[in-house]
Amino acid sequence: MTKVMTTITECDVTDCAYNKHNSCHTLAITVGGPEACPSCDTYVVSKETGGIPDTRGGVGACKVASCTHNESLECSASRVTIGWHEGHADCKTFHSR
Ligand code: SF4
Repeated sequence: MTKVMTTITECDVTDCAYNKHNSCHTLAITVGGPEACPSCDTYVVSKETGGIPDTRGGVGACKVASCTHNESLECSASRVTIGWHEGHADCKTFHSR
């Protein structure tokens, strides 16, 4: 069965190069950094404007196996939101198993 990419409905990390008007505009983010935290691994501060203006961001891969929405290191949620957590960007839809 073909999987539809999880949509990022909102991201309030407005200093990210891919963020415009609280929306993510890269095709696909990766979630999960080196720690067991659902951080957005695509977040970047840059002088460059990133992404594609008429594209809504999605979750390309998620390394957070401890989330109930995670199946085979992919996100199975239909949509997620991203926001600040302790000074970094996190998936706010994360739900611990
Ligand atoms: S909801 Fe869970 S599986 Fe989906 S991106 Fe967020 S942390 Fe990863």
